[in-house]
Amino acid sequence: MVKLKHNEYASLEKKLQKAQKEKTSDDNLIADLEEKLAAAKREMTDQARAICKYATEMSTETFAYKLATEIETNVFGQILSYLKKAVQSNFSNDAQAVRRGERSIRNYKKGMPIPFPLKDRIKIKDNDFYLHWYNNIRFKLHFGKDRSNNRQIVNRCFNSVNDYKLGSSASIQIVKRNGSPKFFLLLVINIPKEEVELNKKIVVGVDLGINVPAYVATNMTEERKAIGDREHFLNNRMAFQRRFKSLQRLRGTAGGKGRTKKLEPLENLRKTERNWVHTQNHLFSREVVKFAVQTHAATIHMEDLSNFGKDKDGNADEHKEFVLRNWSYYELQEMIRYKAKKYGIEVRNVRPAYTSQTCSWCGEQGFRQGATFICKNPECKQYSEKIHADYNAARNIAKSKDIIKKNE
Ligand SMILES: [Zn+2]
Repeated sequence: MVKLKHNEYASLEKKLQKAQKEKTSDDNLIADLEEKLAAAKREMTDQARAICKYATEMSTETFAYKLATEIETNVFGQILSYLKKAVQSNFSNDAQAVRRGERSIRNYKKGMPIPFPLKDRIKIKDNDFYLHWYNNIRFKLHFGKDRSNNRQIVNRCFNSVNDYKLGSSASIQIVKRNGSPKFFLLLVINIPKEEVELNKKIVVGVDLGINVPAYVATNMTEERKAIGDREHFLNNRMAFQRRFKSLQRLRGTAGGKGRTKKLEPLENLRKTERNWVHTQNHLFSREVVKFAVQTHAATIHMEDLSNFGKDKDGNADEHKEFVLRNWSYYELQEMIRYKAKKYGIEVRNVRPAYTSQTCSWCGEQGFRQGATFICKNPECKQYSEKIHADYNAARNIAKSKDIIKKNE
């Protein structure tokens, strides 16, 4: 049995060290601390003593190094037999394709992810995921910023829907760059593709704006939709702005002391706002993909955000710049991407130039007047018609041939 509150032990040890260093320290105090520490030590079993040494002496970095060494020396043998089997089965699977010259023989090299069988190794406790690995090594899964929503994906493997399936094996990649090694868990998850009928000719364009968060239309049908309620959206944004301002005012009047404490409410409000944005993005992305499914579009076009907020001459479009500053569209786009994937819908980025100044019917230049777009071409069937500006922009994005390749 491990009988020790090692927090107490660590703090006693620190106090003692400090007292010994300071010349002015009372001898009685030192003696008292030494006695307490000895008593704590007596209560410990050998194992606890070892744990305690670990906990008090080791920084996170040292711990990471030790773990990496432990894996190399003690866990490796167990993995090796699994790796051998994996290499054999990969080889017999690949053999024919190699003979036909369709693929090369796989490489296995130093630093490659360490494969292991996954069965029953991931457990959930208090909404956190733990990987029970070899030699009682247990990892807690951290999802970081989680732009691609990995937590939800892993969750789907365990919840009642249970339509996502974990692969039979996984691997751990140890990355040793400057600083301490980092451990990455690589999971294979089988996501069933929903069977929907898609038409390769139909493209949905997504216009991101401030009038409505997103406006969708297709390149060849009349269907269109404003996603997100404008009033609801703006009211919430304004409410957050007001709360930020009043908090900042409060902070301004309260002197320099206890600064960190006074920052807390501001930090909390930021978190609340981020969560709200996150939830909204989930709703919006779901709507966008739903629209694509309903219109049988095989492709979704989105504006490339690296040039977003600039007009054709590279000048800032205040309207859109404001949106970009105030909304995490990167997150929204990532969500659209992974939700579309489930249906086999391809998502492409297009160059955003001209989308708000061009008529999506005749291709001539027009102009935006508040929320409406007006075409100046007398030949055009939309000539001097008042068209919803976001609808026109979404159509332009859907029809765009100016696709940006991924590596650009
Ligand atoms: Zn026109």
